[in-house]
Amino acid sequence: MSRVRVRFAPSPTGPLHLGGARTALYDYLFAKKNDGDFVLRIEDTDTARFVEGAEEYIMESLEWMGITPDESPKHGGPYGPYRQSERREIYDQYTAQILKTDYAYIAFDTPEELDEIRSKYEEKGEIFSYNYMTRNLLSNSLSLSDEQVAEKLQNKVPYVIRFKMPVDRILNLEDIIRGKFSVNTNTLDDKVLVKQDGMPTYHFANIIDDYEMKISHVIRGEEWLPSMGLHVLLYEAMGWEAPQFAHLPLILKPEGKGKLSKRDGAKFGFPVFPMNFTDPVTGEMSPGYKEAGYLPGAFVNFLALLGWSPADNKEILSLEEMAAEFDLHKVHKAGARFSKEKADWFNQQYIQMKTDEEMLAILKELYPELPVNDDKLLKIIHLMKERAVFPQDIYENGKFFFSAPDQYDEKAVKKAWSDYTGSILHEFSTHLQPEMNSESIKSKIQEFAAEKNLGMGKVMMPLRLALVGELKGPDVPDIMEILGFEETTRRISNATNNIS
Ligand code: GLU
Repeated sequence: MSRVRVRFAPSPTGPLHLGGARTALYDYLFAKKNDGDFVLRIEDTDTARFVEGAEEYIMESLEWMGITPDESPKHGGPYGPYRQSERREIYDQYTAQILKTDYAYIAFDTPEELDEIRSKYEEKGEIFSYNYMTRNLLSNSLSLSDEQVAEKLQNKVPYVIRFKMPVDRILNLEDIIRGKFSVNTNTLDDKVLVKQDGMPTYHFANIIDDYEMKISHVIRGEEWLPSMGLHVLLYEAMGWEAPQFAHLPLILKPEGKGKLSKRDGAKFGFPVFPMNFTDPVTGEMSPGYKEAGYLPGAFVNFLALLGWSPADNKEILSLEEMAAEFDLHKVHKAGARFSKEKADWFNQQYIQMKTDEEMLAILKELYPELPVNDDKLLKIIHLMKERAVFPQDIYENGKFFFSAPDQYDEKAVKKAWSDYTGSILHEFSTHLQPEMNSESIKSKIQEFAAEKNLGMGKVMMPLRLALVGELKGPDVPDIMEILGFEETTRRISNATNNIS
């Protein structure tokens, strides 16, 4: 078999949404599984939809996900350029080639003329299609005489090049995920291949580049399945062997119905993009997984399982493990329902798998100004990691480690404090010694409670209130060890002075 080469071919029309990110991931996994190449090609022929910064965003997102392309506009490679806008000369040569075949013709109809025809059809309740039934009635090199065409060309009348869809042919197609299916060519229209400005449209540029870049497998979203017939015929027209195709299932909304859309993020309260993206025109910011605190490993893991299940239904897999196991035949045909709970579960698992030192680095990047040294922060992380879904939780749920409570939760006060609590805590604090650790503190509390004939809760609860400001957090002796003798005693005296 020839070398496996897979491309991810986004258009830089905005940030990469989850579906696009998953396509890129499957492209990567399939390439790596087969010791092949993963290529990033930027399909920017549609200048009207170009969005400033989108290409950089796509590249950064792939890098964050850990799936850096082997060839790309940024990295170069033997089949460049990797931006379609820079490949005009290559396309020109193939435009000339296809015009020599019976698969293409030139058409002079102006957009206004076509709009008018479209409206006329609509009035009759019909839909206009530029196809085998209508093309002979329109203004093109099939309907006009050679002289008329020559004259128009002489007069520089603008034209497009259209694909001449064969009539009455049944195309027998095969998709790796969906299997065999057939398409009647009479259901397909004569797509524009080359625009008035001489630039190819998506369809033509796409197959030229896949051929030129020696792409062996086209793995892309389900929305491109209806184009497969045209693409296969374009390969035939050019006399090239077509690559293999695999069309990936949709990612569905959390309720399971309908495609997850870019707007669903705001609606359901979860990101639909890998990283934050600020629209350069409107200034609107769309949140991303990275900034929300998802670890790249977790993101990639949960994304991979939206539509694919590894052999033994294992859930936690590294990128390398996924690449070793990935199988397009095991990609589901049906859409995959997105679940934020599942995404969060993965993140929690990945946080537990990180060492305290790794979490330290992540936290210091998120909060460069934390008022504690690394040793203390490591202890805090060790204590708080278990319950964290996001790195931010360690800070948010452990705020009391960084600053003393400035108020005490009312309900907690009612529950934990009575008239004599202040004096009990004060007396307890006199038993504390500067050298203290969680174990010694625990025995101190036990001894003290026994001596005073109090239940443990009568000491533990008000202590917690004094240290945290509410009745939350990890074990009290652990908190005290981290806060240290001075801070602990200071907080106890604050509480005894301020809670009445
Ligand atoms: N440029 C197309 C897109 O934006 C690529 C489709 C394909 O992979 O062929 O999705």
